[in-house]
Amino acid sequence: MTEVIDGNAVAAEIRSDLQDSIDALADAGVRPGLATVLMSDDPASETYVSMKQRDCDEVGIEGIHVEIDPDAPAEELFDTVEDLNADPEVHGILVQMPVPDHVDDRRVIRAIDPEKDVDAFHPENVGRIVAGDPRYRPCTPHGVQKLLDAAGVETEGKDVTIVGRSNIVGKPLANLLVQKAEDGNATVTVCHSRTENLAEKTRRADVVVAACGVPEMIDGSMLSEGATVIDVGVNRVDADTEKGYELVGDVDFESAKEVAEAITPVPGGVGPMTRAMLLYNTVAAAGHQEGVDVDLP
Ligand code: NDP
Repeated sequence: MTEVIDGNAVAAEIRSDLQDSIDALADAGVRPGLATVLMSDDPASETYVSMKQRDCDEVGIEGIHVEIDPDAPAEELFDTVEDLNADPEVHGILVQMPVPDHVDDRRVIRAIDPEKDVDAFHPENVGRIVAGDPRYRPCTPHGVQKLLDAAGVETEGKDVTIVGRSNIVGKPLANLLVQKAEDGNATVTVCHSRTENLAEKTRRADVVVAACGVPEMIDGSMLSEGATVIDVGVNRVDADTEKGYELVGDVDFESAKEVAEAITPVPGGVGPMTRAMLLYNTVAAAGHQEGVDVDLP
């Protein structure tokens, strides 16, 4: 029987374990604060930000939300980030991407104080991950590691093929999984749109992580018997539903399930983990900045 890895359940457990750390911070008079900044009128971005704010409310993190008109000058966003960097009640800052074209997104990432960079996208934090000394781990890759751990899948000595090399998923996940560390020690292959013979690379993997943004691209024929499949993809495809669309992953779930030993669904796999790990990083950030030892799950 193929195990369907329940991301909602694993995320709920992490959130419940985080409560102890939030209580420890409260005993020290600290309430973690997360600022979200939205400079977009894209409905998907609005939904992501409101979900993050709701998550904060639920666990006792102070959520601060700033909205900036997408047509406003870029400096308005940079001034906001500077204010949040200086605000002692804000421990984590998340600028929802993508920002409008007239704003340099790399400059946005560099503008955030690395101590408050709970996305772990700042070059200093990326460098620390590569060097094996992470301050924070980026939410989605960290969520993937936690899912593998919860499913009892060890990465040590295993062949892991990641399909996708973005700065937010593929590359940081590869950097984490190759580390000489308990939840690393994997032999990692990173594939992208120029990769030749992709199926050959996925078929030889013990663990396949799909993060390419192409609906249902990885199917059962591209997997080896007994593989673990982690589907990061979230794609809206037209469907005869009330909303006119449905969400599908980058993996063709039905055919992959026939071959895999364990697989994550979409929705209900990686998505809830990304949200839980943002709370995790915010709690870690509050601990660092306030000098309180927090025991993280
Ligand atoms: P990007 O579009 O930034 O990156 C996609 C990557 O996939 C690129 O490296 C691209 O290659 C590669 N790729 C595209 N087409 C192919 C192909 N045919 N064969 C092999 N590789 C290909 O996407 P993200 O990393 O931001 O996101 C990936 C997916 O994960 C999306 O579906 C996104 O919605 C989802 N996502 C889900 C999250 C969650 O919490 N569940 C969080 C973040 C993302 P190249 O570099 O050559 O262009």
